[in-house]
Amino acid sequence: MRLRRVVLASNNAGKLRELATLLAPLGLALEAQAALGVPEADEPFGTFLENALAKARHASRITGLPALADDSGLCVDALGGRPGVRSARWSPSGADAANNAQLVADLAGCAERAAHYYCVLVLLRAHDDPQPLVADASWHGEVVDAPRGGGGFGYDPHFWLPERGCTAAELDAATKNSIGHRGQALRRLVERLRRERLVGAP
Ligand code: IMP
Repeated sequence: MRLRRVVLASNNAGKLRELATLLAPLGLALEAQAALGVPEADEPFGTFLENALAKARHASRITGLPALADDSGLCVDALGGRPGVRSARWSPSGADAANNAQLVADLAGCAERAAHYYCVLVLLRAHDDPQPLVADASWHGEVVDAPRGGGGFGYDPHFWLPERGCTAAELDAATKNSIGHRGQALRRLVERLRRERLVGAP
């Protein structure tokens, strides 16, 4: 089986942009679930992996297509790993600006700023695929109070990369894809897809 069309089990435009860019050279077209009439799936679980699996199954069941799901989030050491699986809805509205304001407020007066982004990707060939393909990656940095940069999405303006002297939102898209959690996880997933002969060479 060769993968040609894959539904992305997410409505997050930032994720679609990052993942579609990396998959296009493999001849794999990633289609947003909303464009195929798939409503948001619930993400009730306490692990990224379970949420990703649930989202991929939901999208594949409704569309009949192979599905790729990303579950990701920002894990802050001083907050015991939160917001973690709840990153998308850390504030009541779930808007990026409100989530960021909540994060800065949570860390007020706190000197410990270490954090990492985590991403797990799950690809299902069919909704009842007994062998989901799974890959994950982390990206380490620090949370800063003052936002910087207009790229990326979500918490990126507050995610400081000490070794680069900038935030994730100040990176160009290609650099974020090459060093970020989602890009790293996707490269691992693509290796698996190649081994299983689900995609060809780029
Ligand atoms: P999910 O859609 O439930 O996986 O939630 C992902 C959430 O984690 C996003 O809405 C963001 O708040 C955060 N997040 C994940 N990846 C990134 C990233 O690359 N940059 C900024 N925020 C991210």
